[in-house]
Amino acid sequence: MRSTVPWFLLAATIFLASSASAETPDLPTCEPERSPRVDALSTIGLRAIGLPRNVETALAEAASLWNLAPCEASGRPRFVLGAPGERTLAVRWLGFAAAAEPGVCGSFTGKEIRIFGFARDRETGALARCGDRDRLVEVIAHELGHALGLRDQMQPACSGQIMGQLVRRPDGELVERTVHAEECVAVERRFLTVSERLAGLATGEGSIASVLRRPSSPYAP
Ligand SMILES: [Zn+2]
Repeated sequence: MRSTVPWFLLAATIFLASSASAETPDLPTCEPERSPRVDALSTIGLRAIGLPRNVETALAEAASLWNLAPCEASGRPRFVLGAPGERTLAVRWLGFAAAAEPGVCGSFTGKEIRIFGFARDRETGALARCGDRDRLVEVIAHELGHALGLRDQMQPACSGQIMGQLVRRPDGELVERTVHAEECVAVERRFLTVSERLAGLATGEGSIASVLRRPSSPYAP
């Protein structure tokens, strides 16, 4: 008699095995995942939509965190506020709304950054105002990181990085996050430099133009 394993048990086993292996401690710690490489960009204009003054100030500080991040600056774009860049990214204030996901004050939709006025508590579901200016700077800088092509880094070793998860210290305060050199380097690796482009390096992901046309690309017009 042929014994068959139900497909869902097999799928669950594969899932468990893969998530267990993702937690092996000897993995390289905070190496961000590679995204498809895109053409060099010198500027990304940030278009503020409905931002109150304090949020606009936080946006300017968040942009500076990336602009002044400590690494080489080959193909990395600079954020410019209130001026058109080679590409434009909208930053929209939804001051009376809360994100669908609990504990979240900002999101990157693939086309624009949304900053929410409230966050839902993970346990009680109650609404709480999204943080003071320092926290807002962090939230916006995190979303700018997504717009630059970086993903969340959930490994505990990455706490403190701007793309790292939120971690509470024993006293209940959240660990501060800021742009780390590794993250800045990861962004640079994503952008082809002008000389690489001229040398005709292929990305293996199709033409650069097709990458930019993808609807999920933050740089799609
Ligand atoms: Zn994120």
